[in-house]
Amino acid sequence: MRIVVIGSGFGGISAALRCLSAGNEVIILEKLDKPGGRAYYFEKDGFIFDAGPTVITAPWLFDEIFEKFGKKSSDYFTLKKLETFYKIFFDDGKEFNYNGVKQDILSEIRKFNPGDVEGYLKFFETTEKIFTAGFKLIAHPFGKFSDMLKILPDLIRLRSDKSVYKYVSGYIKNEYLRKVFSFHPLLIGGNPYNTTSIYTLIHYLEQKWGVWYVQGGTNKAVLGMLKLFRENNGILNLNSEVSEILVKKENGKPKVKGVKLTSGKIIDADVVISNADVAFTYKKYIKPVYRKKYTDRKIDSFKYSMSLFVIYFGTKIKYNHLPHHSIILGKTYKELLKDIFTNYKLSDDFSLYLHRPTASDDSVAPPGNDCFYVLSPVPNLKSGINWNEKGEVYKNLILDYLEKKYMPGLRKNIVTEFYVTPEYFLNKLNSCLGTAFAIEPILFQSAWMRPHNESEDIKNLFLVGAGTHPGAGLPGVISSAKIVEKLIRNI
Ligand SMILES: Cc1cc2nc3c(=O)[nH]c(=O)nc-3n(C[C@H](O)[C@H](O)[C@H](O)COP(=O)(O)OP(=O)(O)OC[C@H]3O[C@@H](n4cnc5c(N)ncnc54)[C@H](O)[C@@H]3O)c2cc1C
Repeated sequence: MRIVVIGSGFGGISAALRCLSAGNEVIILEKLDKPGGRAYYFEKDGFIFDAGPTVITAPWLFDEIFEKFGKKSSDYFTLKKLETFYKIFFDDGKEFNYNGVKQDILSEIRKFNPGDVEGYLKFFETTEKIFTAGFKLIAHPFGKFSDMLKILPDLIRLRSDKSVYKYVSGYIKNEYLRKVFSFHPLLIGGNPYNTTSIYTLIHYLEQKWGVWYVQGGTNKAVLGMLKLFRENNGILNLNSEVSEILVKKENGKPKVKGVKLTSGKIIDADVVISNADVAFTYKKYIKPVYRKKYTDRKIDSFKYSMSLFVIYFGTKIKYNHLPHHSIILGKTYKELLKDIFTNYKLSDDFSLYLHRPTASDDSVAPPGNDCFYVLSPVPNLKSGINWNEKGEVYKNLILDYLEKKYMPGLRKNIVTEFYVTPEYFLNKLNSCLGTAFAIEPILFQSAWMRPHNESEDIKNLFLVGAGTHPGAGLPGVISSAKIVEKLIRNI
């Protein structure tokens, strides 16, 4: 079959490779000048900035794809396990070093509250069960309601109705520690106070298999996967934005027949896999007459995740006291998250993730320099915030805060900087409401209740990536490609 994949995010590339390995002709059409989507990269003044994902977990998911071609991912890019996973900084100066060594985790817990050691150990034991059930769920298509019914007993038994924060709080009393063991949903666009406790599986995933870094940046994994794609005659067309998914009627039912680009060019296809935003896919690229389920109303009724404000910067000195990944929590964590996810309000406070790849890899900055990005979760564009006005002010607030508390002399040592706002996610990445993580990962928008990987409206249209099942984050989107491959084999 000829399969067209719209978009070259990790989900799109993984699906393209899997379909190629099954003997299809595969063409990826990417809007931008470089591949990767959220995992795009910027080169500026001798620095290489990964635009998005930096924390790599579940590395075997890459290998499963390379093995289909008789290769290993290590032939194409190098994964390095980090010793310190994250350092979590609290506003009052307290710190928690989070790594994969049980004894170290326990001694960090003792620093805050020795009484919580026992509770943590019990919590950890339960995360193994959640992981086992959760990973089954992640690799399953959920096209039918009966699929959902089958997992209901597991969901009830594992208390998936509780939020990650509430679940952790059932085992751990200390407020600082509760935050340490519940912040993970933020990495995939979820509010720890609302995201289903299934996501505690991330803690188990990290503890069991580690946190990894791609040497040279995550973009090297994108380029490595595309090298494999090209070696096997896959076609990647950059600067090729799809404006319409073309549909014909076969036996009275709509079926894909190809895509149309903004240039007017038409490419015929037997199957279309959309790695573009789910809301854009249905609302903008498919005529309403072909959409019974995914009407504009249905698409608008989803709750969309937060967005991000990201500052990329390089310094002419090194901040060696900072690890590769820092989580910097502000004064008003819970209220801040409410402002972001519920009130759609830009708060004066912020919680940050600071990425310093030069802690592990000198190749991404000129000699003696440090490479960074700092991201601040912000409301999506439902907020109505005018980022043209606010952007510069917000950037200065963050850099001043970093300079005052964590990075002395920062402003005078910055040699290059730029930032992106929710407008970047809307305009560059075609993401509805400028969200960074698509549809929010709450229980009622998970599994069968999330947009399905196989379209119910249009035959031979499949969806892969953050907005479909199982959801955002590299393990999620790479798993969605696995599901799509299975579904396509059955058509
Ligand atoms: C700043 C940031 C940090 C993150 N950190 C992590 C992390 O550390 N670890 C982790 O696991 N996850 C992380 N995530 C989440 C993760 O990056 C995403 O969930 C994942 O990369 C999304 O992949 P995707 O397959 O959905 O495609 P996307 O990356 O969303 O790519 C979609 C592609 O489709 C293209 N496209 C859209 N419309 C069209 C069209 N009409 N025609 C042609 N092409 C089109 C876009 O240009 C884009 O290239 C982060 C996200 C962000 C934004």
